[in-house]
Amino acid sequence: MLMLSWQLRKYFPLRGGVLSSHIGDVKAVDGVSFDVRRGETVGLVGESGCGKTTVGRLMLRLIEPSGGHTFFQPPPEVARRLTEIRDELRKLNPLGTETLASALKAGGDSTDPTVGASRTLLRELDQLADQYSLYRLSPSKMRKLRGKLQIVFQDPFSSLSPRMLVRDIISEPLTIHHWGNRKKRYERVAELLTAVGLNPEHLWRFPHEFSGGQRQRIGIARALALRPDFIVLDEPTSALDVSVQAQILNILLRLQREQNLSYLFISHHLSVVRAVSHRVVVMYLGKVAEWANTEELFEHPLHPYTQALLSAIPIPDPALKRERIILSGDVPSPASPPSGCRFHTRCPMVMPVCSKVEPPLIPTGRRGHYVACHLYPGSSLPEFGLISSRSPGIIEIPSKAPPEEGEVAPLPSGEGLPAPSPPTGAESEGAPTSVDPVVLQWLVTGWRDAPAGPGGSKTPLGPASFPPPASEPAPRT
Ligand code: SF4
Repeated sequence: MLMLSWQLRKYFPLRGGVLSSHIGDVKAVDGVSFDVRRGETVGLVGESGCGKTTVGRLMLRLIEPSGGHTFFQPPPEVARRLTEIRDELRKLNPLGTETLASALKAGGDSTDPTVGASRTLLRELDQLADQYSLYRLSPSKMRKLRGKLQIVFQDPFSSLSPRMLVRDIISEPLTIHHWGNRKKRYERVAELLTAVGLNPEHLWRFPHEFSGGQRQRIGIARALALRPDFIVLDEPTSALDVSVQAQILNILLRLQREQNLSYLFISHHLSVVRAVSHRVVVMYLGKVAEWANTEELFEHPLHPYTQALLSAIPIPDPALKRERIILSGDVPSPASPPSGCRFHTRCPMVMPVCSKVEPPLIPTGRRGHYVACHLYPGSSLPEFGLISSRSPGIIEIPSKAPPEEGEVAPLPSGEGLPAPSPPTGAESEGAPTSVDPVVLQWLVTGWRDAPAGPGGSKTPLGPASFPPPASEPAPRT
């Protein structure tokens, strides 16, 4: 495991009034957890404003988080212990970290063994974070790590200084990190330019003398200067022509093969994400809605939001048509996100419970596939009367009110709450099978026969039957 983000949160304060006092927060990222393996590309998709770029910047510590951790290159035993802590917390708090957070804030009940066990695990997590979390490193240690963590920005025009020669733009990180003497630095810059398909003679030009694609290559060369391990690619091709996009993507894939780089590929272009990513994380309004291996996600999308996104991908064949799922309404404001499931105001499959209880991210039973949706068994506790694997086929809407904040399990205050974040690599092989195929089959049938949702649409993509567990796809080469 190269990077592990754990319950990342970023709230931007809203200020108002005569005294410019704090009147609320824009919850740009609210409890996002996932990992990136060495040599892997993780695609991060979602609508504009869902928090993708903020996640990328948090992972590089370009901005400070409001909560959570990012572990970079944790030793194997630490990575193993982190996943054990996560799994144990998931068992102790099956409703997810939101409920645990509320309970912790409420003060805690010392007689509740669940509370005590959760506290102990959180203390251990805190100790590990002291040693390995990026956000607890001193400025000098963080500066040393900067060379390993790089970013390629979306806009190749504004991300390069118009007053600097290409030679100085690319050698600047080398100079800051005191790498070699001037001669060696310029030799390295010439190497980098060749690696991204430009000529050493371009050293003496200014950015305005290049096309958009060439500028993006310069941005990539700059990101590669210090031999990074992890690069955030923030929509690196969205400002480019299609033919140039292909060139840039090929360069990125080649460099990944040659240097075993890991990428976080942020994009809203799903076809591009499918072409370059090993795994895909789907975000909606600051939260992870679904996470799976790329082929698994595109072949068997489970979350209604993912299905809507995929239905918008054009098919390059005039004889084929796909029924488009049109979502009703606008994306809610992250300053006042909807209660319960954040997607419930637009979801064609919405149920009464969706506005009351937030669905945690749970394993679906298919390898490496996680979803946060009440449609799937195991996403909610039986005692809330949602979906019970012990009573397959029965979905009851709870007659009692769902737990209010602080009502569930009182715990003391605390942050850095560990998430039910999906496991990595080998551990995903043993992902718990919490989806009951009988219940799921019933759900699928009911789903297909369900009346149209508020937007007048029914998802056409619901699987006819729950497909057998998929094997891990081989990494792309
Ligand atoms: S069915 Fe409910 S929980 Fe699932 S995405 Fe729709 S609103 Fe959210």
